[in-house]
Amino acid sequence: MRQSCGQRTFDGWLKPLVLSGCDLAASEVRLAAPSAFLANWVQTHFAEQLAAAWRAALPAIARVVVESKPDATGRMTFTADPEPAAPAEAPPVEINGSTLEARYTFDAFVVGKANELAYNAGRTLAEGGRVAFNPLFLHGGVGLGKTHLMHAIGHEYRARHASAKVIYMSAEKFMYEFVAAMRAKDTHSFKARLRTADLLMIDDVQFIAGKESTQEEFFHTMNELISAGRRLVISADRSPQNLEGIENRILSRLSWGLVADVNAADFELRYNIILKKLESLPSAIVPNEVVMFLAKRISASIRELEGALHRVLAFATLSNRAIDLDFTQEALADQLRASQRRVTIDEIQRRVCEHFRIRQSEMGSARRARDVARPRQIAMYLAKQLTQRSLPEIGRRFGGRDHTTVIHAVRKIEELRAADAEIDADVRLLMRQLES
Ligand code: ADP
Ligand code: MG
Repeated sequence: MRQSCGQRTFDGWLKPLVLSGCDLAASEVRLAAPSAFLANWVQTHFAEQLAAAWRAALPAIARVVVESKPDATGRMTFTADPEPAAPAEAPPVEINGSTLEARYTFDAFVVGKANELAYNAGRTLAEGGRVAFNPLFLHGGVGLGKTHLMHAIGHEYRARHASAKVIYMSAEKFMYEFVAAMRAKDTHSFKARLRTADLLMIDDVQFIAGKESTQEEFFHTMNELISAGRRLVISADRSPQNLEGIENRILSRLSWGLVADVNAADFELRYNIILKKLESLPSAIVPNEVVMFLAKRISASIRELEGALHRVLAFATLSNRAIDLDFTQEALADQLRASQRRVTIDEIQRRVCEHFRIRQSEMGSARRARDVARPRQIAMYLAKQLTQRSLPEIGRRFGGRDHTTVIHAVRKIEELRAADAEIDADVRLLMRQLES
């Protein structure tokens, strides 16, 4: 099939199929597709060809039936592939052995309220004059643009300082290389390499939290770089104070610099990002209402937003259909369903604290005063209602409380909602905000 219909068509439509059954008595082979849309499409366009291919191997087969099985996980390569039809792109840039994605530049980065602090800090650092802050610590949820920003800093710094040594690596790679160097009894050259960097960037340091020897090395390297006036950029999926298992002295060192958060994008930023991505795809005709729809509905992360856009474009190219709202909804049916109920405990805590104007640290504190205990109970209640987390896990996220405390909170808020209209209104409002 790959040969007869081409790699692209094969990858888009046929590769995601899995064998779900074979009924020789009925001369039938059943294949499962990850979505109804895909199943339909394959059934109407490829059923004959598929049957012929099966017959070539198993003459008893008369028919191929394609059914939709969203749960046939594991091998659903189509949905797992975030960018099915990513346009041909410039190859990554290799700088001192670190690979920087060519498309992750400042120009390609859309600035909005959610990321302007991080963006401005990154730009300032990359421009290379005197900076008042070092290191720069970027933190924020997955898929919000931290890695993109770091690569952009690398490109820009390099463009301005041709001979500068720029090193970018994931914390995992840092750890891996460090451990490998230890095994080979040659940590010296590893250290030497990092310590001569003019700009060192370590991505996703939450991965080295709790790994003592790596942390130690990381700390020394950091210290030396900072003392020598070299630039350091670090990212993590949470703020320094919320990194567990990182030693205090490292934390305080990290906090000396600038800690900039990258927040979830609001509608406007998501909208602008889609427009920006479309600029580089002039042949794609996407009506404004579709752009609005995507920006409104795919809100969890920019990575998902990009994935959705690429998916719509890929479906449209492969099926030769115009992109309109109906088509978009069809193409994204599974993703839209999944993105509807993805609320994190972190988001819940943040919203609840904003709503009741208390500090987020109160979510985990031991204080029992009503003005913090009640919001905390509401947040636990919402965590139970809106996420799939278990009671013990919810308890852990609220300052390591016991699951019975969570049960108590859930019951209490249920009672209060029935008895107290004001509390009920608060909870409703929060639910609406969190689910939109
Ligand atoms: P993180 O490292 O925070 O998990 P990434 O930097 O990998 O996120 O970003 C995920 C995707 O979203 C990337 O393809 C990136 O180009 C894109 N992206 C994120 N933020 C922006 C933005 N502000 N403008 C343009 N693209 C963005
Ligand atoms: Mg990243």
